[in-house]
Amino acid sequence: MARYTGPVCKLCRAVGMKLYLKGIRCSSSKCAIEKRNFRPGVHGQSRQKLSEYAIRLKEKQKARWTYGLLEKQFRRSFSDASRSSGNTGAKFLELLERRLDNVVYRLGFATSRAQARQWVNHGHFAVNGKRVSIPSFRVRPGDVISAVESSRQFLKESLEMTSMPPAPKWLEGNRETITGTVKGLPEREDIDTPVQELLIVEFYSR
Ligand code: SF4
Repeated sequence: MARYTGPVCKLCRAVGMKLYLKGIRCSSSKCAIEKRNFRPGVHGQSRQKLSEYAIRLKEKQKARWTYGLLEKQFRRSFSDASRSSGNTGAKFLELLERRLDNVVYRLGFATSRAQARQWVNHGHFAVNGKRVSIPSFRVRPGDVISAVESSRQFLKESLEMTSMPPAPKWLEGNRETITGTVKGLPEREDIDTPVQELLIVEFYSR
């Protein structure tokens, strides 16, 4: 499956904030934003006046990089959101949050979305008892996410070495049993991704 394989800390520096793409390293003093909080490149420390277009593009890239998607995958989710009724921006974030790789990360079973995506891809997780290896799989209220039996020990050992923030209120997870439940759909206030979704809607509506 296609994915971005370039240097990820550069992405954080390009938008000037932590996107938490590298797991444990992001909370350490080794984080590139802590050491070099300016844009990458030779003109990285010069003043920059952004056009309206650049502001919207930056917001879109911030969200795309946060969820670790390529433009085509990201755009597809946006098209799904724009076809549904209600607020397109909020629906868009809801669809991104409901991706299985994001849910595994939010439940605290992986330290980053990239790790969660790899683990889902490698078939370490099941939804409602059935192995699912598609990171973009969209979870629904009532779904139960769990580690498959053969991967349980490996995941348990990995989880013992890390700590993660509690799951958001639309999810309920247990790191001991590596099981989580989707309690409902995520509301906008449940999603702490620091993006202004209105700017993304404006970007794609231009
Ligand atoms: Fe971003 Fe994490 Fe790299 Fe820091 S360590 S710049 S938060 S990816």
